[in-house]
Amino acid sequence: MTTPVTFASAHSWVDSASAPGCDFSLDNLPFCAFESASGEVCLGVGIGDLVFNLRQGVACTSLSMLPAIIKTASAASFLNELMLCGAERIHALRCGLHALFAATASKDDIATARPLLSPISTTRFCLPVDIGNYTDFYASIHHATNVGRLFRPDQPLLPNYKFVPIGYHGRASSIQVSGTAVTRPSGQLKAPDTAAPVYAPCRQLDYEIEMGAYIGVGNPLGHTIPIEHASQHIFGLSLLNDWSARDIQSWEYQPLGPFLSKSFMTTVSPWVVPAEALAPYRVAVAKRPPDDPEPLPYLSESEDAKAAYDIQVEVHLLTQAMRAAGLPPRKLTAGNAKDLYWSFAQMVTHHASNGCNLMPGDLIGSGTISGQAETSSGSLLELTRRGSMPLQLGDGESRTFLEDGDEVIFRGFCERPGLPRIGFGECRGMIQPPHGGGAA
Ligand code: MN
Repeated sequence: MTTPVTFASAHSWVDSASAPGCDFSLDNLPFCAFESASGEVCLGVGIGDLVFNLRQGVACTSLSMLPAIIKTASAASFLNELMLCGAERIHALRCGLHALFAATASKDDIATARPLLSPISTTRFCLPVDIGNYTDFYASIHHATNVGRLFRPDQPLLPNYKFVPIGYHGRASSIQVSGTAVTRPSGQLKAPDTAAPVYAPCRQLDYEIEMGAYIGVGNPLGHTIPIEHASQHIFGLSLLNDWSARDIQSWEYQPLGPFLSKSFMTTVSPWVVPAEALAPYRVAVAKRPPDDPEPLPYLSESEDAKAAYDIQVEVHLLTQAMRAAGLPPRKLTAGNAKDLYWSFAQMVTHHASNGCNLMPGDLIGSGTISGQAETSSGSLLELTRRGSMPLQLGDGESRTFLEDGDEVIFRGFCERPGLPRIGFGECRGMIQPPHGGGAA
């Protein structure tokens, strides 16, 4: 496999791609799936504030020179088939797209491509990947410590944490694309002062801001993935919201971990940013404090591997009252994926270390991304100390956990002077009451 090559920065004839703060610059070219005007589900590529229809893209000369990969992209409704093609062909496709949207493209190509572009703002996005398996990790030591402190003040971090990338198997069928309403789940809730639980709508509904990594080429059953190859198995990254019912979780989680407190829904952003586009923002994993154990040899990676991603992530909240008053969403917190204790490469290698076969399209969640500072707490559980310190939103509103009508909006982007901005778009979900009119 060749090392991915990043593009020399260039301007695009799509003006919005060069606008300051634009997520989808010419260097990004993220993939998505969307419903075209004729109602069919097509793959697309983001450029500026537009989405390009890959189904009809074969008509463009810059892409028609790549017969195999463009035929695959044109026929597909999910990214899985592209994932099977491997990094070299994806790179070739990205080079073709870069040539097509660069200001140096031929007049003919621009004329052919222009009608295949439509505004992102009016696009109906679909789940970009047919996700067979979903595993969610717990890779932020700050999150693990914050949460542990709430439940076990004398021993916040369990002894296995610094050795094992902890995870649980999530539910793939309830993963939805950004914008899908989140129905408040019901479940067993048990107050500390009662002997038995009740079945009722969740009262402690929470978000978790995470990055998701999609597996490209997998590994055969019984085989492992050496740490030095792990990054090559990652097709691309997305934003992910691991909605969590804290009251259901605290009663059900022992001894086998989260179950119905998480499986009611998970939201992913429509855009999958290719691993190649993130290459300039790969950084060395943060050095472990001197007292921490080194990872076991199979999880040990050199600093040169630059296995961490410098991705800034933000949580915004739009309440019903803010919406009614015409106010914009309010930013609650901001964190960075480079603060994770375990890298995605380590998560991939650990996942396959028992011979478990990872498949193209499998989704791996990072776990809640929290930093050391309170302003980077990635969940309300941490931010409000399990509901004991309500968060003041201004205008008299406050929150312990999410209320019906609340819309949670995640944003993510890579930004550094001298480098093109690489954005992830948004991951949104609005809370609606349980079906059947049950009151929360
Ligand atoms: Mn999670």
